Amino acid sequence: MSKDAQLQKLGKLTVSEFFARFSDDDACLAHIMEVRYGLRHECKTCGKYGTFHKLTGRPAYSCSHCRAQVHPAAGTVFQDSHTPLRVWFYAIYLFVVTRHGVSGKELQRALGVTYKTAWRMGQQIRLLMAKADGFQVLKGHVEADEAYMGGPRPRKQKMSNKTIILGIKERGGRTHAEVIDRANTDGLRRPVLRTVERGSTVSTDESRAYTLLTRDGYIHGAVRHMNREYVRGVHHTNSIESFWRLFKNSIRSTHIHVSGKYMDRYLKEFTFRSNHRGMVNAMFDLLIASV
Ligand SMILES: [Zn+2]
Repeated sequence: MSKDAQLQKLGKLTVSEFFARFSDDDACLAHIMEVRYGLRHECKTCGKYGTFHKLTGRPAYSCSHCRAQVHPAAGTVFQDSHTPLRVWFYAIYLFVVTRHGVSGKELQRALGVTYKTAWRMGQQIRLLMAKADGFQVLKGHVEADEAYMGGPRPRKQKMSNKTIILGIKERGGRTHAEVIDRANTDGLRRPVLRTVERGSTVSTDESRAYTLLTRDGYIHGAVRHMNREYVRGVHHTNSIESFWRLFKNSIRSTHIHVSGKYMDRYLKEFTFRSNHRGMVNAMFDLLIASV
């Protein structure tokens, strides 16, 4: 089945529907207006509730009562860019429908822009994804696990150039992931304290750094991976590990290498998609709303 047919079957925005809907810059601007302000809204200048009309040849709308102007793209990543809106929209669309991420090269080919522009747009879209995901406390039963990017898991705590990432995943729910400095007690425990509701069940591996969690008010259980124990009662870390597998495979196949400096953005990109899985239209609108 083609990608378009797959999306069609799921009732999602297909490539052809996308191009029909956002055929030119005016259609994109209308969508930004709708998502950010509403085509009908209370005018900030005259205070009346009314309709706003597009001004011919200008990226602006005006109030039907007092003619005050609204620039929907003002203060957004779109405003200072020479890249047309419909190119931005298509780039955002590609980020929303992919499973493995979009490389700078792919973006360059798909959009017909220079590599430099494509790379910069990709980074900006990742920042939008981080912003749009919003923060929600995780609760219920969560799994926490750390992963090491840029090489195999080191035997000792001393690791030279590896980026350590911590992932916390609700069973069947949302994921939070971040880059941490060290996989020691503070490095692992602080993000849990910050993002997981007290009283929740937390499953981890045997890393000693996690053992304080019980004193912190969590129901903590660990599996002993060192002893090849992968399940202990309700405790296992399979969900967060499959998130790591997808993330690592994607980084490897799509981007080859991501430097530690940018790792957090790629993580946020993946958690955003994972947290809104299957909701193509919703993801798209969330991103447009957060420009
Ligand atoms: Zn007005």
